[in-house]
Amino acid sequence: MSQDIVIGVDLGGTKIAFAAVDRQGQVLADYTLPTLAQEGADAVIDRIVQGIEATSGFVSGHVVGVGIGSPGAIDVEYGVILNAVNLNWTDVPLAAGVRAGLKFDIPVQVQNDVNVAALGEYLFGAAQGVSDFVYLAVGTGLGGGAMSGGKLISGAQGMAMEVGHISIDPNGRLCGCGTRGCAEMYISGKGVLEGAREHLAAFPESPLHRSSLSTAAVVAADKLGDPLARLVVAEAGDALGTVMAWSVAMFNPALILIGGGMGKVLGDRLLTRARTTLATRVYPPMLEKLRFGWSQIEVTAVGAAALAWLNR
Ligand SMILES: [Zn+2]
Repeated sequence: MSQDIVIGVDLGGTKIAFAAVDRQGQVLADYTLPTLAQEGADAVIDRIVQGIEATSGFVSGHVVGVGIGSPGAIDVEYGVILNAVNLNWTDVPLAAGVRAGLKFDIPVQVQNDVNVAALGEYLFGAAQGVSDFVYLAVGTGLGGGAMSGGKLISGAQGMAMEVGHISIDPNGRLCGCGTRGCAEMYISGKGVLEGAREHLAAFPESPLHRSSLSTAAVVAADKLGDPLARLVVAEAGDALGTVMAWSVAMFNPALILIGGGMGKVLGDRLLTRARTTLATRVYPPMLEKLRFGWSQIEVTAVGAAALAWLNR
């Protein structure tokens, strides 16, 4: 008897990643296609169907479900992408479209991409056995997900814990969303770069004057003790600590997980600063049982697969 597998799909602005995943979270096969969003939603849905069938063909298992992680606002119940700016999608019935295209009749579920990353940690990663935790993804931008009482908090549009665009300073840096001082303008790859630009003139001795500014250059300068880079990373840590404080007050989590490429690159220096800031901003007893950790799931499509496994 062949084993059951699910296909996880990570729908991104430039590529679509597929993974065939067993019940233990092992990736048995993976596959990637370009998104080519400019060709329109129907063409992208066709490519998703093609990718699911190709990935299924690489393994001998029996495909029992599909989970899709998508950016943007989502009607999770019906699998409709309400609005995804980087795909230029409005009201796209993604789950129904994929299901109609597939040769086999299996459930297709859609959830916000950061939320599925949290599910991946819950089922296969650093949050196994933890029913109350918060996941903060520090990448190019800032996103989040929360599990409360063993249940993923989706919200009305799949956007609960969309913490990147909470303003932490109404007079702060102007964000692309139109608001000032959004958290992700401080704590993200984008935010770190903005911080270095903002403070550059005040640090004429900084080595960051000598190269073109990039997040990698700021991280390298921070490791060498450059005061400008240290300031920028401290601001990032303060912003992260503030977001943690809201998360703690709302969900009283037992664990906060930090993920995302930028979060991991900045590592313990970021987390130490964030924890110091957090300690000044919440009701102290709420910190007594709170632990911190780093995400473990590196393949984003595995989180999407967790969505399919959890709802079976
Ligand atoms: Zn914003």
